[in-house]
Amino acid sequence: MRPNSQELKRKSSHDTEREFGGTLGAIGIPIFLPLTVLFLISTSRSPEASVLQWPPSLPSTDQLWDPLALVVLLCWIALHALLYLTPLGKVSEGLVLRDGTRLKYPINGFHGLCITGVLLMFLVGLGAPLGYLFELLLPLAVCAIAVSFLFSVYLYIRSFLAPSHALALGGNTGNPLYDFFIGRELNPRIGNFDLKYFCELRPGLIGWVVINLGMLMKEVELRGSPSLAMILVNSFQLLYVADALWNEEAVLTTMDIVHDGFGFMLVFGDLAWVPFAYSLQAGFLVVHPQALSSFRAAIIIALNGIGYYIFRKSNSQKNQFRRDPSHPSVARLETIATATGKRLLVSGWWGLVRHPNYLGDLLMALAWSLPCGFSHLLPYFYVIYFTILLIHREDRDERQCRTKYGLAWDTYCRRVPYRIFPYLY
Ligand code: NDP
Repeated sequence: MRPNSQELKRKSSHDTEREFGGTLGAIGIPIFLPLTVLFLISTSRSPEASVLQWPPSLPSTDQLWDPLALVVLLCWIALHALLYLTPLGKVSEGLVLRDGTRLKYPINGFHGLCITGVLLMFLVGLGAPLGYLFELLLPLAVCAIAVSFLFSVYLYIRSFLAPSHALALGGNTGNPLYDFFIGRELNPRIGNFDLKYFCELRPGLIGWVVINLGMLMKEVELRGSPSLAMILVNSFQLLYVADALWNEEAVLTTMDIVHDGFGFMLVFGDLAWVPFAYSLQAGFLVVHPQALSSFRAAIIIALNGIGYYIFRKSNSQKNQFRRDPSHPSVARLETIATATGKRLLVSGWWGLVRHPNYLGDLLMALAWSLPCGFSHLLPYFYVIYFTILLIHREDRDERQCRTKYGLAWDTYCRRVPYRIFPYLY
């Protein structure tokens, strides 16, 4: 049944809790997080690389702006928009929307990654100085932040033209600051081009591994060859990105696509935070090279492997179960019924903890920081931040599941008492 606009208004302003600290968060986060990105990049390349140094070493204005960065960023986004439109791969349908329809999405992100890889090899072969990304990183981040703000303003304005059933329930509170931040429209599209789906896994995620590669090339320029630590960071994060794009279809059932509106929070996260904050370890290693013994490297590789195994197996198990509960790989798992008709897994990976996929992700996050040694806290920013993010995300997801499944969710929580870390949390 289609809710009318009054129904939507009533539901969102009274029933929906404001997330991320409400209005205060909606004002503070868009100021604090962009500054954090710039702080992380400039601190990681300072000799001390200390998070405790106060005041932090501030970059000069000419370090922040370079017109070349804007050209590179816009060309990069245009390239990925073009790759998105390329008729490669299959087309999948998303979940059923409130108006009963389903949107179609091209599943060609992995093709995009491979084509980008070939293009880069070609450019490097022609002598393109990929290592120059190191010098261009701060201005690139500034441009990505500016583009995120402008794009979010566009999304906010155009959301007023969208029909009420196309709005996200949580992003329609009537408070402009909060709605701008959290996102009003659920699936903004220009024709068939889905803006949120495009940004989720493409320019930012692929941009992240290209920045990493740029840092590796910079290391080669400076020291003649890449270090083992840099190779590990590049390989682990490339595996993570390739995995996300290989399993691109799974993004269609995530909270970001199904539940959240497309506003500053997701735009900034996709276009600025992921590529520029997640490449911190590689940037750090350019200026602070670390010796890594084969033994330590082997332990770190094993940790990343275990994390990846848990992450992939648990995500695949749930996706398979949601797509086809009678599939032989999941049919024998124990489940409990819910009033919605959907069932919840209570054995297998989802019987170990309530978010085994987060556990695997966090083990990998630790493995990405360890190649940077123990002399600095800064490269551990990612694992610390990610732990906070996933604990908060887990809490949001639990609240949504409790609303969806009621008593059945409580039964699940009793059967599987730990949220992410067995016997700890
Ligand atoms: P999840 O894949 O964890 O999905 C949560 C949903 O799964 C719930 O809403 C519920 O939805 C379903 N579910 C929960 N418990 C059960 C159960 N016992 N049986 C069956 N279904 C269950 O969502 P996320 O989008 O948070 O995470 C996806 C992946 O992305 C994770 O691996 C995460 O680590 C990663 N991630 C990475 C980030 C990064 O920045 N690198 C950021 C965020 C996530 P329903 O019942 O409606 O199907």
